[in-house]
Amino acid sequence: MRKLFKVICNWKMNKTISEAIAFCKAVPPLVSPVYLAVPFTCLQPLADLDIPMLQIGAQNLYPQHDGAFTGEVSASMIKETGAEFVILGHSERRQIFSETNEFVNQKVKAALLQDLVPIVCIGETAIEKNQNRTREVLKKQLLESLKDLDTVALKQIHLAYEPIWAIGTGTPSTPQSAQEIHFHLRQLIQEEWGEDVAENMSILYGGSVSDESIEELKKQPDIDGALVGGASLKLETFSKIIALVEGDPK
Ligand code: PEP
Repeated sequence: MRKLFKVICNWKMNKTISEAIAFCKAVPPLVSPVYLAVPFTCLQPLADLDIPMLQIGAQNLYPQHDGAFTGEVSASMIKETGAEFVILGHSERRQIFSETNEFVNQKVKAALLQDLVPIVCIGETAIEKNQNRTREVLKKQLLESLKDLDTVALKQIHLAYEPIWAIGTGTPSTPQSAQEIHFHLRQLIQEEWGEDVAENMSILYGGSVSDESIEELKKQPDIDGALVGGASLKLETFSKIIALVEGDPK
């Protein structure tokens, strides 16, 4: 499960349907899976393109199956578009939309019920980092976001460590300090849920990953992939990142 270095791209609230289709049609042939998280409107049009190795996913969901939740989209609605995964608990949702760990936990369970792979994001703010609270903050986010899941469910989840101070700033964590945190997270996962889960749960790094930083990140033993935001929006940098990863798969 952890062996293949994964690239998950997060387009956030960018690209109309026509822009997204033009982009995906121009992507050079892929030799290993690449995961693309797109706005809800682009899910079905891109899934319908059926581009080999390109998996389409959402960036959020609402945990109820249906009902009076104006403006929201459920896991079953996402699943029917052909999407295969969903990003949950992204820091922008936690900060702008006040999402709590408990709410993220409900979303993770809703995603799993529909067979959507949850990509669960955790990460500390600059203030928390400067107060030396990174490990304490991550532990709380991890345990509360993944509360009450059995080992079968846990092994399907991908965890994304995204230090908030690195997102969209152009300054990623150093590969060494990201590795240190990933190693720590894996130990924590092992203590809580055992070695099998720790060995099967992919832990990805996100935060200003670019074609310049991806190779060093990939060399780190506990970094199983990258969550790429801004650099995935331009075909040139997207293609460079994929080529660097595919050229030398972990
Ligand atoms: C993200 O949105 O998850 C992200 C990591 O963004 P960026 O790569 O632009 O920092």
